[in-house]
Amino acid sequence: MHKQPDLPSKRLFFALPCEPAQRRAIAQWRNTLGHLEGRPIAGENFHLTLMFLGEVAVSELPGIYAAAARVCVPGEPLRIRLDQLQAWHRAGMLVLVPGAPAPALLQRVYALHQAMLALGFADVPREYRAHLSLVRDFHAPVPEADIAPDFTLDARRVVLFESHKGRYRALAQWPLEP
Ligand code: ATP
Ligand code: MG
Repeated sequence: MHKQPDLPSKRLFFALPCEPAQRRAIAQWRNTLGHLEGRPIAGENFHLTLMFLGEVAVSELPGIYAAAARVCVPGEPLRIRLDQLQAWHRAGMLVLVPGAPAPALLQRVYALHQAMLALGFADVPREYRAHLSLVRDFHAPVPEADIAPDFTLDARRVVLFESHKGRYRALAQWPLEP
């Protein structure tokens, strides 16, 4: 509904980025899983999506920035423990997820969803499931991990990413810590 034909647009999503050292650690751990079917996601693209906006007219960016700035305010730091490997067969994804609920994350996500709903983004997902994608086109059982996953995403900022041809570019960011 936001995209109008012939107007310049971008494919956007809000996410928590994964910092370089942690990307490397997660990619190295993924290697310990042995040969996996599917297509491994490049470490530089590791992230935890908060909300996918889809194709958005660039004329809407100022409104999105303003709304995000109102809700992505410094407060409780977000530390998200990713300690469970799951295979999402419908999506064909191998993902890392929090084994325990992450209430501070969910609060942030709901606030962001509400702010975007107010701008007219109607397709807010019914159910939010935090995950960090590792492999796509994955349809096998969950691989046995010799080393149990235990990563803590120390999220210091929310980033609005543009997704273009399989690469992400940060357009704006809001710090989460004072
Ligand atoms: P590509 O689709 O070009 O192969 P990608 O999946 O990495 O690459 P996008 O499809 O732009 O890039 O997705 C960016 C982020 O938004 C990813 O975290 C993806 O899981 C999420 N996403 C994409 N489409 C949807 C959707 N329809 N609903 C919810 N999240 C989505
Ligand atoms: Mg995609």
